[in-house]
Amino acid sequence: MVRSQAILRHLACRTPITLQFFFAVVMQPLSFLPDSFAEYEDLKTILDQGSVSFEIQAVCDATVCGRQFSVYTASIGSTDPLAPAIGFFGGIHGLERIGSQLVLDYMRALLARLEWDELLVRQLQSIRLIFMLIVNPSGMWAATRANPNGVDLMRNASQNADARVPILAGGQRVGAWLPWYRGREGEPMEVEAAALLRVVEGQLAWRPLSIALDCHSGCGWSDSIWFPYARTRSLMPHLPEMYVLKTMFERAHPHHGYQFEPQSHQYLLHGDLWDFAYDRAPSSNVFLPMTLELGSWLWIKKNPRQLFSRQGMFNPVKAHRTARVLRRPRICSTFSRAVFSSQRWLPQGNRREQLLQSAIDHWYSERRA
Ligand SMILES: [Zn+2]
Repeated sequence: MVRSQAILRHLACRTPITLQFFFAVVMQPLSFLPDSFAEYEDLKTILDQGSVSFEIQAVCDATVCGRQFSVYTASIGSTDPLAPAIGFFGGIHGLERIGSQLVLDYMRALLARLEWDELLVRQLQSIRLIFMLIVNPSGMWAATRANPNGVDLMRNASQNADARVPILAGGQRVGAWLPWYRGREGEPMEVEAAALLRVVEGQLAWRPLSIALDCHSGCGWSDSIWFPYARTRSLMPHLPEMYVLKTMFERAHPHHGYQFEPQSHQYLLHGDLWDFAYDRAPSSNVFLPMTLELGSWLWIKKNPRQLFSRQGMFNPVKAHRTARVLRRPRICSTFSRAVFSSQRWLPQGNRREQLLQSAIDHWYSERRA
C-alpha cells in the first residue's frame, strides 16, 4: 500500500473520538480513500472460485469510515461433527498482512490440488479445515494493529495475567489512544473477537481433537510458534500433546528455525483470546491452539529502509523475501496431516506420563532450577 494512503487512513480513522466523529459526520464516506484492500479482494476471489467446495459464512460485519467488511469463514472436509479439525486464522492485527497472505496462499494451493490430489481428497473425507484469515478487516483497511475502536483484539478477553506484564504491551485499560488497549472493563467483547470465539467454540473446540494456527508477525529476531499460556507461567493441561506435536514438527522440518515454546517464556499478557478459548474448551477434548509469530527483524536487517514504514515493521517488503515467507504453507499442511493422523500419535496412559516429564524437562526445568 502507498504510505501516504496509510497516513490518510490513520489520520481519518485512529484519532481520538471527537475527531473521528468529525470525520465520520462531515467527511463520510471519505470517498478519496480506496473501498477495499488487496487481501480482502484476494479472499473474495478464492471464495468465489471455491464456492462449490467451501462452506462459506459471514460471521460478523465490521465498519470503518463508511466502509463495511464481512468477516468470513470458509470450511471444507468431513461433515462428521466428531471429525478432527484444524482452524487457520490471520489478520487479527490489521498491520500484520503477511499472516493473512500465508493462509491465502495455502487456500489457493488447496483448491488447485483438489482437482488432482487423491490423497488430499481422502484426507478431507476424515478431517475438517476451517479458515478465518482476515479477522480484523477494518484494521487491515486502515493499516492499524487495533480495530476501529482502538482495541487490540488479542488483549480483549476478560482474564488478567497472574503476574507482572510488560507495561502497555501486556495490555492496558488507560485508553484507546495508547497501543495494546484492552477495551473497558466489564464491556462486551469487540464484535471481531466475539466472532472468533464463536467460530472456535462452534467449529473446533467441542470436537475430540482440534488444532488452531493463528498467523502473526512481530518485531522478533526469529520465527516462533507459541502455545498457552500467555496469562500465567503454569503448565497447560495438554503439555504432553503439545510436546509430541513439536517433536513431529521438528522431525518433519529439521531446519525449520522456529522457536516452539509457551508464550509465557517471552512475556505474559492480559486478555489473550487463545488462553480464553483454551480454558473454555471441554477438558475431555484435546484443543491445541498455536500462534505463529513471524519475526520481522531479519527482513528489516536486510532492508533497513523498512523501518520507516509502518507496513515494513511487520511485513517483508521485497518481493523475493515475501515469496520466501509464503513458501511456509508447508507448516499449514504439516499440521493438517497431524490432525488427519491423530490416532497414531495422541499419547495415552504411561506414555503420556513420560511425555509430560520430557516436556517439563525441555521447557521448564532450567526455569525452575
Ligand atoms: Zn499480531
